[in-house]
Amino acid sequence: MSTPVRPEPKPGVMDIAAYVPGRESAPGVAKVWKLSSNESPLGPSPKALEAVSKAMDHLALYPDGSATKLRDAIAEAHGLNPANILCSNGSDELLGLLAQTYLKPGDEGIFTEHGFLVYRIQILAAGATPVVVKETDERADVDAILAAVTPKTRIVYLANPNNPTGTYLPVDEVRRLQAGLPKNVILVLDAAYAEYVRRNDYEAGIELVSASENVVMTRTFSKIHGLAAMRIGWIYAPLHIIDAINRVRGPFNVNALAIEAGAAAIRDKAHVQSAVDHNEKWLSWLTHELSRLGLRVTPSVGNFLLIHFPDNGGKSAEEADAFLSARGYVLRRVTSYGFPNALRLSVGEEEANRGLIAALTEFLES
Ligand SMILES: *Cc1c(COP(=O)(O)O)cnc(C)c1O
Repeated sequence: MSTPVRPEPKPGVMDIAAYVPGRESAPGVAKVWKLSSNESPLGPSPKALEAVSKAMDHLALYPDGSATKLRDAIAEAHGLNPANILCSNGSDELLGLLAQTYLKPGDEGIFTEHGFLVYRIQILAAGATPVVVKETDERADVDAILAAVTPKTRIVYLANPNNPTGTYLPVDEVRRLQAGLPKNVILVLDAAYAEYVRRNDYEAGIELVSASENVVMTRTFSKIHGLAAMRIGWIYAPLHIIDAINRVRGPFNVNALAIEAGAAAIRDKAHVQSAVDHNEKWLSWLTHELSRLGLRVTPSVGNFLLIHFPDNGGKSAEEADAFLSARGYVLRRVTSYGFPNALRLSVGEEEANRGLIAALTEFLES
């Protein structure tokens, strides 16, 4: 074999389609409503901002590499043992650390048809093989996932609720999935939107993690806590998994401002409740208004909605996106998620929600 003339990435890397974040601007439009990344319209708790400004006095010092203050605050809020919690630079980092820690070339990682795109990226980056499983009615299908398991399977990523569909698996289905998996396969329950879910048959995964050796739950401060810019995520996992990830992660992966902001945010229960209440009200209002306009909306339990445009009649998602962007409403195209004719809308402030429906009405009449 001849020596390559320049450094080459390892196999898999060039198969990755780089993640494209939601757009934040619309050219030539003065007032832009960013409804493309499921961020909180309420912003962070004022207590988190205060904690950040105090921490600014100590920027010369390395942060606490075990993020003890943040782990303690999370443990207290959820009634968990802090030893089973590990924090990260956004929960995306954890999705990657899990792949780096448990996947090698030749292994397979499973996720579903309309699942979060970061799973594929992390499986490929670890040199392993992505296995995509069909969904049923835009929802993960436990039987299909179990049927895709082979002796090479090492990880199953499940967003619950899923982004961009907003659908969820009830706890008995998640339990059935765990029960059907070989014991050496990690089930990752990505519960980024858990706080928004208002369903009696939903559970983020805490009980399942506590009761088994192969289930982990990841969470984020980017959505309900309005702290996406701070990059804070955490995992609740069995001790043997925490121990393994701790060896692979960067020693100071969570910065000092993030530790302070997160600890203050999760203690501000009133602020979290306002975010939940705002979402409950406007998610149902938006669902109702969009249906009234004749658009099919996937029933969502998150802080966003997947809006489907008619397949015939010249009112495509692409045209809607252009029309709405020109009026300052920036939504998310979801072609890369297998929905070429849909847009994902994040629940926004009242003014944004009302304005969006008015603009969409105008679009459909145009
Ligand atoms: C937004 C989101 C996350 C959170 O990512 P962070 O890195 O914590 O900002 C994780 N999973 C899903 C499915 C998401 O939509």
